[in-house]
Amino acid sequence: MSKSDQTFSPSYLKRAASSLLQWVDSDYCPDGAEKMRNEPDRVDWVRVMPFVFLHAGCLGVIWVGTSSFAVWSAVALYFIRMFAVTGVHHRYFSHKTYSTSRVGQFLLAIFAGTTVQRGSLWWAYHHRHHHKHSDEPEDAHSPHVHGFWWSHIGWITSKRNFPTDYSKIKDLAKFPELVWLNRFDLVVPVVFAVSLFGLGAALESFAPALGTNGWQMVVWGFFISTTFLFHGTGCINSMAHIMGKRRFKTDDDSRNSAILSVITLGEGWHNNHHRFQSSTRNGFYWWEIDPTYYMLKILSLTGFISNLKAVPKSVLEEGAHADHHASVAAAKQAAQVHPQSSLRRIVPTAAAIAVATAASAQGNLPPKKSDSAIHKDATELAHDLDTKKSDDPPVI
Ligand SMILES: [Zn+2]
Ligand SMILES: [Zn+2]
Repeated sequence: MSKSDQTFSPSYLKRAASSLLQWVDSDYCPDGAEKMRNEPDRVDWVRVMPFVFLHAGCLGVIWVGTSSFAVWSAVALYFIRMFAVTGVHHRYFSHKTYSTSRVGQFLLAIFAGTTVQRGSLWWAYHHRHHHKHSDEPEDAHSPHVHGFWWSHIGWITSKRNFPTDYSKIKDLAKFPELVWLNRFDLVVPVVFAVSLFGLGAALESFAPALGTNGWQMVVWGFFISTTFLFHGTGCINSMAHIMGKRRFKTDDDSRNSAILSVITLGEGWHNNHHRFQSSTRNGFYWWEIDPTYYMLKILSLTGFISNLKAVPKSVLEEGAHADHHASVAAAKQAAQVHPQSSLRRIVPTAAAIAVATAASAQGNLPPKKSDSAIHKDATELAHDLDTKKSDDPPVI
């Protein structure tokens, strides 16, 4: 069969049609979600199209032009929605680091939906999986295992990472309203974009001095702002395990980076977070700026959220005098080569083998985690990982 015959074969067309339908209904899996999750890691070009659309939409600025109002709206919407990523998708749904009412969490899920990063339940499922298998072959976006670009964007286009495994996030999946938002995850972004158009059109009529209009607000407020938001968030997946210092000796290669923290409103303190993920704050010390935590603290004063979780004193003391633990992911990588990765890894194999040899000689390779823990709910999982602490001496 020629390549063109394969392209238009019934099975190929069926797969392409399924991918298209999944844009509308994220839970549409005609052959079962489990089968999708077992597919090999590779780019699904139908799933690439939304990213092409998002980036191509930025070129609309050629036709709609610029106004100060539109540009500052895009900047504001970047930071407001970055807070939705960090404060809602991450610190609430993924880790339950604070409490809110059922109505409150529904409103938070709608707010987080404007980030155009799928539903909160999809986000939480994959993020908990990341914590469980950090820098191991199962980790969907480890730069040490899969390379930079796969960790930054490629993993999201892979069919195997498309479904949400509701059985692994039962604490969230028991709320049908959250499941609905997760299943039809295009609804909120579309309403958000249409609202921006309506705002721009209204301003054109009632405040023409601002020099904006409907399409200009869509291009700046939706396409440009969302594209930057996507890449800002993606930097945590692609860079927070390779850039910065390691204050804590975690059994992954997470790092602390002030630069990433500025881009992501505090998420750059990623090594802190991997050491104690139940805390509402990622910046553990006063000099580690964490705007997401400050915002959540202010929000707690209104009563909308409560029960913010602190960093234990023992963890603060543990990290007070160290920020230079050596890489452990390279050692793991040398021992485990991912058979399905389609992109080149960024750490030279020779260096990985050298680190593995040195670490092995000292007997300080961290133990692998138990696979069963992914089945636990957020509280159990966080407790399991947060209380896990190696007695091994630091690898300097
Ligand atoms: Zn991480
Ligand atoms: Zn996390």
